[in-house]
Amino acid sequence: MLTGREVTSLSERDRGVVVETARGTLEASCVVNCAGLQSDLLGRDVLGPRPDVRIVPFRGEYHELVQDRRFLVRHLIYPVPDPAFPFLGVHFTRGIDGGVHAGPNAVLALAREGYSWRVVDRHEVLALLRFPGMRPLARRYWRTGAGEVLRSLSRRALARALRRLVPEVRRADLVPAPAGVRAQALGADGSLFDDFVIRETPRIVHVLNAPSPAATASLAIGAEVAARLEAHLPGDGS
Ligand SMILES: Cc1cc2nc3c(=O)[nH]c(=O)nc-3n(C[C@H](O)[C@H](O)[C@H](O)COP(=O)(O)OP(=O)(O)OC[C@H]3O[C@@H](n4cnc5c(N)ncnc54)[C@H](O)[C@@H]3O)c2cc1C
Repeated sequence: MLTGREVTSLSERDRGVVVETARGTLEASCVVNCAGLQSDLLGRDVLGPRPDVRIVPFRGEYHELVQDRRFLVRHLIYPVPDPAFPFLGVHFTRGIDGGVHAGPNAVLALAREGYSWRVVDRHEVLALLRFPGMRPLARRYWRTGAGEVLRSLSRRALARALRRLVPEVRRADLVPAPAGVRAQALGADGSLFDDFVIRETPRIVHVLNAPSPAATASLAIGAEVAARLEAHLPGDGS
């Protein structure tokens, strides 16, 4: 098994797939492209230069309750989700160690691996702005997006939003915790996919959108991907 190798490109041939990696070239009968935030880029050479789906990185930032305020939350506390938006909204999660996370929010990250506001990839931002789906997305969600940015930059605003779930929470109760970045598929018409998007080319199964709860549902998704892959395998199963 080869791990820890960055795949730089995939190209389909009649008899297999050429997998270029940062440390040499590999060949495979079939491939599963499940590269999360990079999955559309890795699939670019086979899905075509103008794909109708693009991965948009949405950072989910967390805070933690300080130790002496953890008693405020003893369960999971969720808001009623907005069905027009693929993200659940900030919620409280009590971990098995007793720690309490508040979050995640959803702000547009300025790089695919943009785990904080300080990480900016100008090329990536420009490419995103050029994607046709960005304009309708901004028109539809600018108000929601502005609110998310405000709550990202202002702990006071975040605490205000969290008080809808736990009225006793104060700004001083919150300390920043590590963030994650969601790989969210955006259609050329500006729609945010809230379901799984799995595309197939002759020898590759591309997982282009695996939003939450894809971690929880990973075994079922794996079975679905394996079933699809089987149909692409040559008759001898090699
Ligand atoms: C803040 C946050 C909270 C979430 N909460 C939940 C939750 O409560 N429940 C839930 O079910 N899901 C949750 N999710 C969603 C869940 O994390 C994703 O749905 C899931 O991780 C998607 O799995 P994936 O395998 O498609 O992608 P990933 O988990 O991102 O895996 C992609 C892998 O590909 C690798 N990779 C990328 N590019 C390359 C390359 N070029 N070469 C080689 N390897 C590469 C990456 O290193 C990574 O290991 C959350 C996500 C975030 C960001």
